[in-house]
Amino acid sequence: MSDLTASYATDTPHLPGMSDEIAIEIRDMNKWYGDFHVLRDIDLTVRRGERIVIAGPSGSGKSTLIRCINRLEEHQAGQIVVDGIELTSDIKNIDKVRSEVGMVFQHFNLFPHLTVLENCTLAPIWVRKVPKRQAEDTAMQYLEKVRIPEQANKYPGQLSGGQQQRVAIARSLCMEPKIMLFDEPTSALDPEMIKEVLDTMIELAETGMTMLCVTHEMGFAQAVADRVIFMDQGQIVEQNSPQEFFNNPKSDRTKLFLSQIL
Ligand code: ADP
Ligand code: MG
Repeated sequence: MSDLTASYATDTPHLPGMSDEIAIEIRDMNKWYGDFHVLRDIDLTVRRGERIVIAGPSGSGKSTLIRCINRLEEHQAGQIVVDGIELTSDIKNIDKVRSEVGMVFQHFNLFPHLTVLENCTLAPIWVRKVPKRQAEDTAMQYLEKVRIPEQANKYPGQLSGGQQQRVAIARSLCMEPKIMLFDEPTSALDPEMIKEVLDTMIELAETGMTMLCVTHEMGFAQAVADRVIFMDQGQIVEQNSPQEFFNNPKSDRTKLFLSQIL
């Protein structure tokens, strides 16, 4: 084997059986916060274009799991491979993965001192080196997709919560991610604004985007999820199609959870 081939082989951490059809592969992953074992033996394979809803009680590790996928949190054991790139302490790989994975949080995390348009163009201009004019054109396209182009020159504080969250989604999309992670994107919203954000997410799902969504919106799960994953106490307890998950839950923990939220 030449040096080049040898380094290629070790730099390409495809897990056995991993193919181009796979967006995310998590194998035997464990994470601790200090002594606290927060994620236990997580195995999860996400195919390209798959829409996954992650449900489970508060404190079960849902946020930690999706934050591990773009290395906002570090795992200590097992493997996470995103779009063929293994997440290790290698900063080059972390940057590559982050440039392909968009994330939308419960609190919108917009920059308050920048306009909507500036929020959307900041990363494309400074991280992607996209020319300003082109970044603005792209941003306007995504602001139209989330149906708020007329808010482009306002500041986040002048917008409703639902509008701010749609800006946050547009801002993520401006980086042209391959995968979108959502962590309870509607939990901080007044009830009348939840639907407009869910509608935006449903439209995004219809474009074929690979999506992992932590949400308590079980109507959304039923409408768009290919698979629902139920977590409790740091483990994936059950996963199934929405149909089976809601109508035929298997574990007692899932049944208890569903009885509390439905
Ligand atoms: P969920 O999103 O399902 O509510 P989290 O992933 O936020 O759960 O949290 C899982 C558990 O880890 C909780 O018990 C929480 O208190 C704990 N936890 C979360 N973040 C930290 C942290 N940075 N340090 C220590 N413990 C944490
Ligand atoms: Mg959470």
